[in-house]
Amino acid sequence: MRLLYLLLLALIFSSCSSLPKGTGTSASIGTVSKGSLKNGRRFPYKGENFRYFSPMSFTFFNRAWVHSDVLDITLEAYQECQKTCPDRRFLLMECSRKKGGKMKPHRTHQNGTSIDFGSPLMKNGKPIKRDHKLGIFHYTMRFNENGVLKSNKNVQIDFETMGKHILSLEKAARKRGMYVKKVILKINLKDDLFKTTSGKIIKQNGIYFAQKLPKLIDNVHDDHYHVDFGYL
Ligand SMILES: [Zn+2]
Repeated sequence: MRLLYLLLLALIFSSCSSLPKGTGTSASIGTVSKGSLKNGRRFPYKGENFRYFSPMSFTFFNRAWVHSDVLDITLEAYQECQKTCPDRRFLLMECSRKKGGKMKPHRTHQNGTSIDFGSPLMKNGKPIKRDHKLGIFHYTMRFNENGVLKSNKNVQIDFETMGKHILSLEKAARKRGMYVKKVILKINLKDDLFKTTSGKIIKQNGIYFAQKLPKLIDNVHDDHYHVDFGYL
């Protein structure tokens, strides 16, 4: 019994390494809503200024896999954010399964080119990361149309940091022949993002945001924003 326990601990420990996992040439097959992933990479559980949101999702459900290009883009964007938002810790949420395919309750995330990013939060104008401890319950956080947390009015979404992060993703993607193909953010929060300094640049650059969403999908894209990457 004790041996089993030690083995389990070793498994969790080794899977939470700070290095990406996976080898070979990645291939994203099909589309985000009907596809698969070959030779993907798994994100490290945490890095200098980011961490994955749930050990359960990471280890047990194995949902932190992406195409190697998407991994490189995301890690480089976080590196740039260390310069542009030095006091900020970011939250990486669900990606794809090791071989892609269906991943409930998401309708997409099937071929290693989709990532959910936790919305950066602040309290009284200062960055906070208390939401980083919520695990899979992060997806249940709800915000009003101004990006204020419904259960605590002092906590709100930091749209400027969100914008800087999206711009960093786009910059790192373009270097690799890719781009931010689509962002899903709750429709009534888009104006809050677009009025920030970085949000204005996002708009000028023509990064595409979902225009209309079914209510069920719209309602859950406040605690996180979903990004699909595409090839140019
Ligand atoms: Zn998503």
